[in-house]
Amino acid sequence: MVVVIGFEGSANKLGVGIVKDGVVLSNPRHTYITPPGQGFLPKDTAKHHREHALDVLQKALDEANISPEQIDVIAYTKGPGMGAPLVSTAIVARTVAQLWRKPIIAVNHCIGHIEMGRLVTGAVNPTVLYVSGGNTQVIAYSQRRYRIFGETIDIAVGNCLDRFARVLKLSNDPSPGYNIEQLAKKGKKFLELPYVVKGMDVSFSGLLSFIEERAPQLLDKGDYSPEDLCFSLQETVFAMLIEITERAMAHCGSEEVLIVGGVGCNKRLQAMMEVMAKERGAKLYATDERFCIDNGAMIAQAGWEMFCSGQTTPLKETSCTQRFRTDEVEVTWRS
Ligand code: MG
Repeated sequence: MVVVIGFEGSANKLGVGIVKDGVVLSNPRHTYITPPGQGFLPKDTAKHHREHALDVLQKALDEANISPEQIDVIAYTKGPGMGAPLVSTAIVARTVAQLWRKPIIAVNHCIGHIEMGRLVTGAVNPTVLYVSGGNTQVIAYSQRRYRIFGETIDIAVGNCLDRFARVLKLSNDPSPGYNIEQLAKKGKKFLELPYVVKGMDVSFSGLLSFIEERAPQLLDKGDYSPEDLCFSLQETVFAMLIEITERAMAHCGSEEVLIVGGVGCNKRLQAMMEVMAKERGAKLYATDERFCIDNGAMIAQAGWEMFCSGQTTPLKETSCTQRFRTDEVEVTWRS
């Protein structure tokens, strides 16, 4: 029996989760929510994490009914992510590792998403679309690495959606993307937007500038409603993502596709992916907001896999890094 506690704080969610041999015992999370029209800055987000770290940690232990003595290893997010929030969370992980005299393990955030997705859905060897506010990648496993087949060459798809939500002054509660999704359901009139797929990669920054520049006028004149613009934006960016995912699946001969990351709980994205998967005779796997949005249990689960395959991180190497690519990690736990 191996019990792992995971600490996640690479963006605006602070999460602590406890996993015991494939069972999530607890997974509380606290989200830093900014006023409409505003994003979250590293310094303020780190302050949020520091303020809530002990409460969320206590909640994780209480809900799991676990005492520190029963924990075998501490896992924390090394990166990628925002520097200050990463560091403030890693300090908590390092501190409890030393207080409780437990080994510690540094986890790649993207791999946390993949391993949580595999655990929750039962997907065995899926092509993965990882979509969030900070990341956009199409990933497949090959020869002890999670290989990146395609990715954004500028901003993440979730960042594109979040920044358009700021233009419309939508609420950031529970997330800007959720509120765009609700408006998009009522959209009817499609505005053609730049569709930018370059080989296996996608680009969203030009598309975002295009709609940011035109939105005020289009809305003023009454040509398009906010609902229409949210609908048009979602349809366009999601179609781009489905296209590169399909190409990766064709290349790999993949029969499973898994969507992870915060944007992964978008029902429209899941529906579009389902159509593509069905046409290829493949199966779609997706999770809900508990597990696709950043959380502590996903770091615990990746830590569990790493620890059980013999890995730990020497304390002096328990640093953080804002850039940490998925394919830098040797996958020692899959055959
Ligand atoms: Mg994430």
